[in-house]
Amino acid sequence: LSPSEQAVLEKIDEQNIDFLRLQFTDILGTVKNVSVPAHQAEKAFTEGIYFDGSSIEGFVRIQESDMRLVPDPETFSVLPWRADEESGAARLICDIVDTDGEPFEGGPRQVLKSVLAEAEEMGYSVSIGPEPEFFLFKKDEDGNATTEPHDNGGYFDLAPKDLASDVRKDIIFTLEEMGFEIEASHHEVAEGQHEINFKYDDALTTADNIATFRAVVRAVAEQHDLHATFMPKPIAEINGSGMHSHISLFDEQGNNVFADDDDEFNLSETAYQFMGGFLEHAPAFTAVTNPTVNSYKRLVPGYEAPIYVAWSDTNRSALIRVPDAAGVSARFEIRSPDPSCNPYLAMASLIAAGLDGIKNDADPGEPVREDIYEFDEQKREEYGIDTLPPNLGRAIDAFEDDEVILDALGEHVAEKFPEAKRQEFGEYLTSVSEWEEERYLEKF
Ligand code: GLU
Ligand code: MG
Ligand code: MG
Repeated sequence: LSPSEQAVLEKIDEQNIDFLRLQFTDILGTVKNVSVPAHQAEKAFTEGIYFDGSSIEGFVRIQESDMRLVPDPETFSVLPWRADEESGAARLICDIVDTDGEPFEGGPRQVLKSVLAEAEEMGYSVSIGPEPEFFLFKKDEDGNATTEPHDNGGYFDLAPKDLASDVRKDIIFTLEEMGFEIEASHHEVAEGQHEINFKYDDALTTADNIATFRAVVRAVAEQHDLHATFMPKPIAEINGSGMHSHISLFDEQGNNVFADDDDEFNLSETAYQFMGGFLEHAPAFTAVTNPTVNSYKRLVPGYEAPIYVAWSDTNRSALIRVPDAAGVSARFEIRSPDPSCNPYLAMASLIAAGLDGIKNDADPGEPVREDIYEFDEQKREEYGIDTLPPNLGRAIDAFEDDEVILDALGEHVAEKFPEAKRQEFGEYLTSVSEWEEERYLEKF
């Protein structure tokens, strides 16, 4: 056993952990758990724990179903909401190993690792700071989720109007117990909507953190008899939930390679190239960063969500915003991702897009300072501004046309992901919505 694996065994002993939740994520971003008694930890590290991969969405064919979970010792964390005096449970995030003992290339965590290995070859490590937003809704008498907001606070409102601040405090304490460093938390624009930002970290840790974050928020909300949702647009005509991601690149000496104090926006040539790559591959990675039918109901004008493929230092209608930051904090904010994404695949495609920009000296053009929501089509054409795909179907088309993104995600995901998403979109197209019923049932 490695020293960090050994340290996990000691912690299990010291803290009376009797169950381990081995956690991993399927292609669609759903977190899966396999629970094992804590005395299996050593075996998990040395051999892995077998599970049936064929029962997991988007994994393998039946005849190759014996896959193993191998825990990453760095991700050991005691689950605070499970802890009692006597004994507790802990979780470990796992990599997936196939029958030959090789990392399974279709495992989302492995996909991100491969893209990060490529970044490393180019001399970079990638930092990402996410800003996930979510809603807290009441439940009905039967315990089912409603879309009735839990409070009627507004942006940055304080208690007593912000009834949810108790829940939010609980969420934050729980996250801190699990090792999160919380940067900021506030009530968002919409009723019942919240944002909790945690400290940027290397991209793999951040993706792990996002998966954990969603589980913690849901579990704590549940304790307050509320339903937390990361659905991108739960209510029409009010702001949806995004997951803005702040990205920067560091070199081996720990310098931020996006920083250049001589530039108007404090950004380096490398930063602009990276940004150019983002803009170029945005239509394709949207299928990954905004992977549900509902995602596209958020990406519409007027709700602080982006639809235009452009960058800006000021306005929130652009895909990329450059915050007023310099030196070690120089970075940009990509505003399109939403919290229904698979965080591993989303980070992997964003980074691959940016790295491709560096390799090909991509040019992001000039910043757009006006409110693009106000532009008509002619003006957009004049400025050469594209729009993001208007729905999941078109996003998958763009995804399948983009060799760079397909390559980055690997053969397995490049095949299984669009397959699952096309089916989802097809079902949506043939479904009949409440809107249609209201509009047409009595009219015709
Ligand atoms: N909720 C907005 C969105 O859908 C973002 C609001 C903000 O700027 O934080 O992206
Ligand atoms: Mg926000
Ligand atoms: Mg933001």
